[in-house]
Amino acid sequence: MRVLLLYPVFPPSFWSFEKAIELVGRKAMLPPLGLVTVAALLPPEWEFKLVDRNVRNVTEAEWAWCDMVMLSAMIVQKEDFHAQIREAKRRGKPVAVGGPYPTSMFEECKASAPDYMVLDEGEITLPLMVAAIERGEKSGIFRSNGVKPDVTKTPIPRFELLQMDAYSDMSVQFSRGCPFLCEFCDIIVLYGRKPRTKTSAQMIAELQRLYDLGWRRSIFMVDDNFIGNKKNVKAFLQELKPWMIEHDYPFSIATEASVDLAQDQELMDLMRECNFGAVFLGIETPDTESLKLTKKSQNNRDPLSESVMRIARSGIRVMAGFIIGFDNEKPGAGKRIVDFVEETAVPTAVFSMLQALPDTGLWKRLEKDGRLLNQGGDINQTTLLNFVPTRPMEEIAREYVDGFWELYDPIKYLDRTFRHFMLLKEAKYPKKKGYARRKRNLKNLRAMAIVFWRQGFVRKTRTVFWKRLYQMYQLNPGGVSSYLTVCSQAEHLLDYRERVRAEISKQMSKHLALHKATAPATSVTQPSEPKVEVTLKTSQFQLPVLSGVQ
Ligand code: SF4
Repeated sequence: MRVLLLYPVFPPSFWSFEKAIELVGRKAMLPPLGLVTVAALLPPEWEFKLVDRNVRNVTEAEWAWCDMVMLSAMIVQKEDFHAQIREAKRRGKPVAVGGPYPTSMFEECKASAPDYMVLDEGEITLPLMVAAIERGEKSGIFRSNGVKPDVTKTPIPRFELLQMDAYSDMSVQFSRGCPFLCEFCDIIVLYGRKPRTKTSAQMIAELQRLYDLGWRRSIFMVDDNFIGNKKNVKAFLQELKPWMIEHDYPFSIATEASVDLAQDQELMDLMRECNFGAVFLGIETPDTESLKLTKKSQNNRDPLSESVMRIARSGIRVMAGFIIGFDNEKPGAGKRIVDFVEETAVPTAVFSMLQALPDTGLWKRLEKDGRLLNQGGDINQTTLLNFVPTRPMEEIAREYVDGFWELYDPIKYLDRTFRHFMLLKEAKYPKKKGYARRKRNLKNLRAMAIVFWRQGFVRKTRTVFWKRLYQMYQLNPGGVSSYLTVCSQAEHLLDYRERVRAEISKQMSKHLALHKATAPATSVTQPSEPKVEVTLKTSQFQLPVLSGVQ
């Protein structure tokens, strides 16, 4: 069997970092780890070609070569996902689909009539598809019916199928699932609340494989909560540490973790010693009532700002996610988020409007209350809430756009980045001469020259840029290269805030026009709240016209 593994296009998003990636001569941020794992799970005699459409298009020769097309996608990739199914069917190729989007939006995906729907986790459902094909069945829907696979049996992904030089980071996965209960989260729906981890030996074999293939850049540990099983994580890091030393720290690692990481100094030290340079935290909001309502109790245990500072002072750069639009949220939530980000000096703050994802606790509650909107629509950082909120949509949208705009003011961004790196310098870094040397390659030097030109000469940031860079050399010389990498992300973020403003403004106009015509509520009151008059503003939604990026 000749299989063409196809990864659909991502629309531009906060994480796509197109401009920053372009600077270093790459095509995409992360490779499709799911598809290379699928290839490893399928019969070894099957042949594979992989095309990530974020890197390049499928050639005529590849279409002609394959006996079957397999696609994996997340919700944000839905548009190209459906287009590629249509294209494959037009060419008479059988199509198999899997991954988070088909699993969570089964009916919507079924509409494009893929032949095989391989849902849930592939370790269980891919063998079912193979058996069906061997029996001569031309279609099928394969589910794991609640059974979660043992990931210690998952083979090493077929990384060699990737065009590795196209990616700025490589991805690996240590665990699936998360023990927490956040109401809006689909991870616990897809992967369960009992974190399942790979063995230390298995993970090190994956890293060794990447090392043998010549990978020497960043690795993103794509676990949704890397520290879900702290005992196993520590055991893995204890084994990773000597491997890293022996191989002269060939990679820097970033991951995602829950905020309770700040309560475990031993774990943070171990991560630092294994060259973990950054962690993404789901902070969501500094409003304790919203955190309580959304069942994110772990974020209310310690003051959030102290947790962020503690992680940064341990030498791990913090990236953080924030959400606006929780039920019963008080006006000014957007500003409170911006103030929190400024106070904690988090450079990379991913700000989104709350979205109800299928089958989550939030989705079920809103569905019961008849508050879901726009089902089947796009879900990303440039889309309005997909449910009726408890305060006016217009107010939330305005706070969101204003907040996003202020967060990525070019001078504020540079200033925050500098302050964050001043916190990082308080930690002891592992000695890693080889890694630092390898980072100074030609592509990086060219990227640096462009950042120097744009931020140090062309924009209004010029004074702050040189002043902060000089201070960095004086106070934290070891962090200058990473500091400049984070500064370079402004190239994408300045553009992206324009996109957010334009998109939200467009959707808000549509939303208000629609509600003017049909006159339903644009906000609801919760039963526990005193009843308030619902106001429906029908004026054209206008966002403030702000100066450009100069
Ligand atoms: S901590 Fe993160 S991964 Fe875990 S349930 Fe909450 S949002 Fe989901």
